[in-house]
Amino acid sequence: LSLATDLPKEVYLHLATYVPKIYCRGPNPAPQREDMLAQHVLLGPMEWYLCGEDPAFGFPKLEQANKPSHLCGRVFKVGEPTYSCRDCAVDPTCVLCMECFLGSIHREHRYRMTTSGGGGFCDCGDTEAWKEGPYCQKHELNTAETDPLVHLSEDMIARAYNIFAIMFQYAVDILTWEKENELPPGLETVNTSRQTKPLKVQVMHSSIVAHQSFGLKLLTWLGNVIGYSDGLRRILCQVGLQEGPDGENSSLVDKLMLSDSKLWKGARSVYHQLFMSSLLMDLKYKKLFAIRFARNYERLQSDYVKDDHDREFSIADLSVQIFTVPSLARMLIIEENLMTTIIKTFMDHLRHRDIQGRFQFERYTALQAFKFRRVQSLILDLKYVLISKPADWTNDLRQKFLEGFDAFLELLKCMQGMDPITRQVGQHIEMEPEWEAAFTLQMKLTHVISMMQDWCALDEKVLIEAYKKCLTVLMQCHSGFTDGEQPIVLSICGHSVETIRYCVSQEKVSIHLPVSRLLAGLHVLLSKSEVAYKFPELLPLSELSPPLLIEHPLRCLVLCAQVHAGMWRRNGFSLVNQIYYYHNVKCRREMFDKDIIMLQTGVSMMDPNHFLMIMLSRFELYQIFSTPDYGKRFNTENTNKDVVQQNNTLIEEMLYLIIMIVGERFSPGVGQVNATDEIKREIIHQLSIRPMAHSELVKALPEDENKETGMESVIEAVACFKKPGLTGRGLYELKPECTKDFNLYFYHFSRAEQSKAEEAQRKLKRQNREDTALPPPVLPPLSPLFASLINILQSDVMLCIMGTILQWAVEHNSYAWSESMLQRVLHLVGMALQEEKQHLENLNEENVITFTFTQKISRPGEAPSNSPSILAMLETLQNAPHLEVHKDMIRWILKTFNAIKKLRESSSTSPVPETEGNIIEEGSRDKDKAERKRKAEIARLRREKIMAQMSEMQRHFIDENKELFQQTLEELATSTSRVLDNSPTVSDTKLTALGPKQTRVTELRQVVTCILCQEEQEVKVDSRAMVLAAFVQRSTVLSKNRNKVIQDPEKYDPLFMHPELSCGTHTGSCGHIMHAHCWQRYFDAVQAKEQRRQQRLRVHTSYDVENGEFLCPLCECLSNTVIPLLPPPRGLFNRLDFSDQPNLAQWMRTISQQIKALYILRDEETASKSEDLILSLVPNEKNGNLPCILDIDMFHLLVSLVLSFPAIYCQDFSGVSLGTGDLHIFHLVTMAHIVQILLTSSTEENGMDQENPNGEEEVAVLTLYKFLCQHTGSALKEMSSGWHLCRSIKAGIMPFLRCSALFFHYLIGVPAPSEIQVTGASQFEHLCSYLSLPNNLICLFQENSKIMNTLVESWCSNNEVKRYLEGKRQAISYARESNKLIDLPDDYSCLINQASNFSCPKSGGDKSRAPTLCLVCGTMLCSQSYCCQTELEGEDVGACTAHTYACGSGVGIFLRVRECQVLFLAGKTKGCFYAPPYLDDYGETDQGLRRGNPLHLCKERFKKIQKLWQQHSITEEIGHAQEANQTLVGIDWQHL
Ligand SMILES: [Zn+2]
Ligand SMILES: [Zn+2]
Ligand SMILES: [Zn+2]
Ligand SMILES: [Zn+2]
Ligand SMILES: [Zn+2]
Ligand SMILES: [Zn+2]
Ligand SMILES: [Zn+2]
Repeated sequence: LSLATDLPKEVYLHLATYVPKIYCRGPNPAPQREDMLAQHVLLGPMEWYLCGEDPAFGFPKLEQANKPSHLCGRVFKVGEPTYSCRDCAVDPTCVLCMECFLGSIHREHRYRMTTSGGGGFCDCGDTEAWKEGPYCQKHELNTAETDPLVHLSEDMIARAYNIFAIMFQYAVDILTWEKENELPPGLETVNTSRQTKPLKVQVMHSSIVAHQSFGLKLLTWLGNVIGYSDGLRRILCQVGLQEGPDGENSSLVDKLMLSDSKLWKGARSVYHQLFMSSLLMDLKYKKLFAIRFARNYERLQSDYVKDDHDREFSIADLSVQIFTVPSLARMLIIEENLMTTIIKTFMDHLRHRDIQGRFQFERYTALQAFKFRRVQSLILDLKYVLISKPADWTNDLRQKFLEGFDAFLELLKCMQGMDPITRQVGQHIEMEPEWEAAFTLQMKLTHVISMMQDWCALDEKVLIEAYKKCLTVLMQCHSGFTDGEQPIVLSICGHSVETIRYCVSQEKVSIHLPVSRLLAGLHVLLSKSEVAYKFPELLPLSELSPPLLIEHPLRCLVLCAQVHAGMWRRNGFSLVNQIYYYHNVKCRREMFDKDIIMLQTGVSMMDPNHFLMIMLSRFELYQIFSTPDYGKRFNTENTNKDVVQQNNTLIEEMLYLIIMIVGERFSPGVGQVNATDEIKREIIHQLSIRPMAHSELVKALPEDENKETGMESVIEAVACFKKPGLTGRGLYELKPECTKDFNLYFYHFSRAEQSKAEEAQRKLKRQNREDTALPPPVLPPLSPLFASLINILQSDVMLCIMGTILQWAVEHNSYAWSESMLQRVLHLVGMALQEEKQHLENLNEENVITFTFTQKISRPGEAPSNSPSILAMLETLQNAPHLEVHKDMIRWILKTFNAIKKLRESSSTSPVPETEGNIIEEGSRDKDKAERKRKAEIARLRREKIMAQMSEMQRHFIDENKELFQQTLEELATSTSRVLDNSPTVSDTKLTALGPKQTRVTELRQVVTCILCQEEQEVKVDSRAMVLAAFVQRSTVLSKNRNKVIQDPEKYDPLFMHPELSCGTHTGSCGHIMHAHCWQRYFDAVQAKEQRRQQRLRVHTSYDVENGEFLCPLCECLSNTVIPLLPPPRGLFNRLDFSDQPNLAQWMRTISQQIKALYILRDEETASKSEDLILSLVPNEKNGNLPCILDIDMFHLLVSLVLSFPAIYCQDFSGVSLGTGDLHIFHLVTMAHIVQILLTSSTEENGMDQENPNGEEEVAVLTLYKFLCQHTGSALKEMSSGWHLCRSIKAGIMPFLRCSALFFHYLIGVPAPSEIQVTGASQFEHLCSYLSLPNNLICLFQENSKIMNTLVESWCSNNEVKRYLEGKRQAISYARESNKLIDLPDDYSCLINQASNFSCPKSGGDKSRAPTLCLVCGTMLCSQSYCCQTELEGEDVGACTAHTYACGSGVGIFLRVRECQVLFLAGKTKGCFYAPPYLDDYGETDQGLRRGNPLHLCKERFKKIQKLWQQHSITEEIGHAQEANQTLVGIDWQHL
């Protein structure tokens, strides 16, 4: 490009010519060719122009001159780990990339880890995002923000400006182009050919597509170019936000945003990314962009609501990046009135209202419901705007916030009273009404409502204004409610009040009262901030009408009570659900809790007698308590029991409500407490139910907008942490000193929780040998604004209610009262006494005690009823036989009463003379008490005696059972057999299994019991066959070469096992013994039954019947074969006399001759393979086809040889020749193994101390080694001392010796000496002695030097050995180390990061959805995805199952990284999930990674998984898991 005068025109011409040629999307797209051409023809020239030189030099220069800002801004990939600091992040949306996190101070803080869903960027360097440590080490070094343009030359700035302006304009033009048959001006191609119209349209269309493809390419290119320099970035921002000639909304950025919903998905994400890396990374333009975004907010949201793509593909989603920046949010509130905009936009989308103007979600169409779901994201925006609270208020901010608050009140007004319900009588409702939408709205708004209050609390002026506004709106709401409510007068005990006639059970009632509740919240704030005392004249307190305030919350609470009393059964489940959510931890803070506060507010402002009468009236219980002797009516036979039951429940509920009104004072502002006290109390009550894990507690506590419960700061004060063992999780236990704060009627308990807590606390008291009364705890004092509510306890109506109920209890009329009614009255009395005691104890001079509950309950009732005093009735009830359970509580009440009396006497200024009567009264009471105590003691002793008897009986029963148990289980289980030993045991001199010194073993009688027929059976060769249930499976646990796959198992020759042990078999048994015929009958029955069942029901079982699998009839262990139970096979032959037996040389000669003879007798086809076994060690003409000594596992060879030997040499039944054979075979194989070890040992001579370099053994080894050197053509390394060789032989041969000892022990039956069963220094010598080997193993060679020289020579001269020594092939060296699972990192996020860098191996760089790590070999797999399915035995299987066959011969152990879950697989149909070995600090796993606490490797748990693998228990573990959880059977494991 030359510096033409009209650059834009030239560029457009160039693009018009070449873009359609390069991006010609034909039938064979070639993206790589397109990219290459675009770079050369289109982008290259622009880079040259921009740099003014070769961009290969220009860009690095730019980069070097760049002074990058502090911001990291890394845009996250899907699945990439992100970190947020719970201590320092301003809100949970502030996150760091892994690199920044690891270099930040937050590593040491309480952080949370999540995996990114894609989109969003790293906030490192953003000082507004972090309260502390905003920079990581890397970004801290960067310079502070100056004008980035100073680092660029004038020329460069001008050129960049030119080219960016043209290219950005071009890209925006073409991407937002809407005409199909026309190109934007300047891009029309000169069309020479005359074509018909339709064809032309098509050409035109393909040109547009080509330009659009390039337009996207261009945006990506711009993003890359500005990455070189912050100056270029700023220029691009400037270009993008520059207003065009058309004024408002004419900048390129505006144009793109406003056509967002018209663009396709791919185009959107490309330009969103560009916005993120340009506008949001430049502090100056971020602000300007935020203003553009806010101005267009309404339009963007409306577009989004109409759009059908997910939010992450909408430009609206950028709100989180803008609104969460506190300074931007504040600026937008003030300058753009953002709060109001968001709320108004939201309201505009919810137009469906009822006649009172409230939201109506009933009969929502599908489209409306869809819109409603999308519109909810606006609430999230509101939350972002409010999430950081202002420290300083300006008048502008006050004004705009209150304007926003007005809008918010309008929103709440539309919710006040929505979804009203009426009790259904007669018929059940026909259709469950829609209720979820309203609750969704409430739930989403919960945090916003709380945050609005938080904002108000920060500024007194704002608080007062907000309070007034809220009150006004509440009054407006109420004015619409008065229909059909006539005034009536209520009176009890000489008090009367006017109220309205309204029955919850007959008229409309709504659960949604957000305006009332907001007012309650603000009222508490007034109380807390003491504004009410400082500026009472500013508050509209006189305008408050308490009966009006309490009316609707009270109705709502009465509704809950009536539902509980079963009065609303016909209204179906929707109501039950609503009541559930009303109390639920997610909603209660702004629903139930606030209703209680509103009632507390009401009581504290009105005559408590009036309050109680209104309450009685709303509970529809007024008649009962205003009519004397009401209880007596129930005596009549024709009383409707349901109605009585109903009323009893309502009375209980009402008493509960009064308990809550008086006792719930842990909201700061209601009582004199702080937020810490509140959360402590919640935790105390949760842990009163039972000890809980951290995550359970978190779930039970309300989270704030930052997802914090505040628990961590207080938990240590109230609970002790108990670490988990190998299973389970860590638990918090309540500290004993905290149980005194337990309140049985804690308002957040569900009914089930309440009864569990009661039970647990009583049990605790019994354990501590205390009485079981659960008296109300001592409460903190109320705030002054609420102080007078306590008088409700001593009001006349309250005393009347208490008295009436106690009277019923005294009369013991079985209909009129219930025990829980009485229990609640006792609790209320207790509360009043605690209160009075507190008052007296904190008494100071100026205080006058106005709380005189004790005096009032001592007074008997007045005429005409003349009822006894409450105190008198309590004393009566104390001895009532039907109230045994409440006795401790009544006793506690009377004790407290007396204590208060004493307090009063001591505190009263004029000492009360002790009157005679008083003393007598006290005396008689003491006597009474003593008598009661004596009786209680007798009762206790009797109870203890009975308990002792019972436990004695229990022990007896267990003892009996134990025997029974032993017969059926234990004895049959592990020990399985009783050895009847009727002969003197083997002398404990040396035990030897082989050779001339073989220990003589007396034949042992072994008697076992069949688990199926329970008959005893002696194990003998000629008695009925016994078998053990067993499971045989292929195994690669010992494999030293997992890549070796048996290609064609049918043709595989298993005769020789390679020392790599790449695939073997494992057989295990649960040890349960059956008669062979009993087992056969059982097995046939299982087969028949399961096959029928599977055909009929198409169900899967945890075991595969078709493959012969069955479960052990006793322990249900997975089995697929049986093993015959035999006496030791070679133990049958007794006396051995080796004196006339051949030595090794002679024996081998004989054997060789016999084999030759056999070859002649048999033809090759039918020849037994067993001869080959021995021939592999003996020189012969067949050697060429047999494996060389390096490629044979010697223990396998030993076993095969010993077991097959009788087949070759079967003439002699005396056992002598067999014994000789065993010994010679063993010695021969041992020597072969020694040679094997010497050939392959990689021993380096080093300077280690040599204990005895010239000992006999050392010299002998060195001689043998030299002999080997001779015969391997000196290819073997030169060794000067035998000491190292001795050491490597001993170390290398130990596993072989141990296996051999086990083998011969079971073969011959000679007991193994205890010394060889424990690892120790002398184990080697004891093994040698048991196996009839000289301690100096080299002696074996010397004793048989003649034949051995020949043999060793033939082994060494093998071609393969030569190749190995020349380094042309590998060989296994000894001792083989046992395999372990792979090493896992301590920090789980390393694995997440590893997985996020892993891409599917089959789909060219795409990220894998379920990256899964093989714990055996460490391979990462792309699991649970079609891309990586392969065919295995004619079936499509997922990557894990396929890998399982290659790596674990059918058994696999994986870690699903995104899920943090261990996966066990066996075969194609079996699998289960297993707890991961990663725990958080609270001793819990996080399956699914939902909580995001930092996770660390628990080594013990990982060892346990490793052990399961090493012991071949994976299949069995799966079986047990599937038996326990049938849903696991249905999962398509093969697709993982
Ligand atoms: Zn970063
Ligand atoms: Zn950083
Ligand atoms: Zn931190
Ligand atoms: Zn049997
Ligand atoms: Zn069993
Ligand atoms: Zn593997
Ligand atoms: Zn894949």
